[in-house]
Amino acid sequence: MNTMKKLSLLFILVVLLCLPTTIFSQSASEGERKYLFESMETLTGVPWYFLAAIDQYERNIQQARPDLPERSGSVAIAIPLDRWAGPLNPDPQDVIPESIHFFGGIGRDGNGDGKADPYNPIDILYTIGEYLSRFGTTYDDLRIGLWNYYQHPTAVDIITHIAKMYQKFNTTDLYENHFPIPLQYNYTYRSTWGDRRGWGGIRIHEGTDIFAGYGTPVLSTCYGYVELKGWNRYGGWRVGIRDVNNNYHYFGHLGGFNKKLKQGDIVKPGEVLGFVGSTGYGPPGTAGKFPPHLHYGLYKFNGKTTFSFDPYPYLRAWEQKTKNKTTKK
Ligand SMILES: [Zn+2]
Repeated sequence: MNTMKKLSLLFILVVLLCLPTTIFSQSASEGERKYLFESMETLTGVPWYFLAAIDQYERNIQQARPDLPERSGSVAIAIPLDRWAGPLNPDPQDVIPESIHFFGGIGRDGNGDGKADPYNPIDILYTIGEYLSRFGTTYDDLRIGLWNYYQHPTAVDIITHIAKMYQKFNTTDLYENHFPIPLQYNYTYRSTWGDRRGWGGIRIHEGTDIFAGYGTPVLSTCYGYVELKGWNRYGGWRVGIRDVNNNYHYFGHLGGFNKKLKQGDIVKPGEVLGFVGSTGYGPPGTAGKFPPHLHYGLYKFNGKTTFSFDPYPYLRAWEQKTKNKTTKK
């Protein structure tokens, strides 16, 4: 790219970042945020939806981990100082591009002010983009780059899956949720998270059971990437979906699947995943050992491990929201 074009693009970016940071927050304009990533794609060759997915992934992790400071601005990516300046750099706060380069740091000057500032959003995005582009810019190349950067297979998968959703819908605004059962069907549920379960050894009940008749449709609770579809001796026929907030939504004991659904699909909130059944507690096909219900679980990845959390309050909220929407129509 010629220097003039790069400079004018940088000028737009700087103006954009001088606007109040609230415009980049989740509730405000996701469009502005997207524009920032698109501009960085032009500079580094890394697709905007990949840069946006990395940012989203790190934002999620900072919210889930009390030991990590939250970065609230337009870019949440936090590059560790020793990686930025170089592990042997005597000055971990180094901002001089030449000495950072000399000590093997990855920090780069993206906004052309002569400094590689680990707290400047444009420098951060440019650094990540330049780092990844060295591995190439296809999906497979980028996954290798992500692996080198994060050294964790779950991180690589989650970022790739968020990127695929951003690419498919051409937006980062994919936060909508939906109650997993159509409201016109009969169903009942209460808070049972943490109850003891006997079958297969003592286990804690990691989810909410929604009791409903055989064949009741089971709907996606979010925009999500289908990470798992198949049999498990506890859960029976089940589906696992990842949303853009690092949450994994688990639907168990299904009587059957939506026939079109396959692993790797991207679904919308309210889309049919399958049907309520009573499968599980045995080898593939086992059913009828308990009354039909949907077992719905929620799990979050925090950058190190995956943990279960209580879906009950979320179900209540989504049910209410879905109700309000229906009455408005
Ligand atoms: Zn259950």
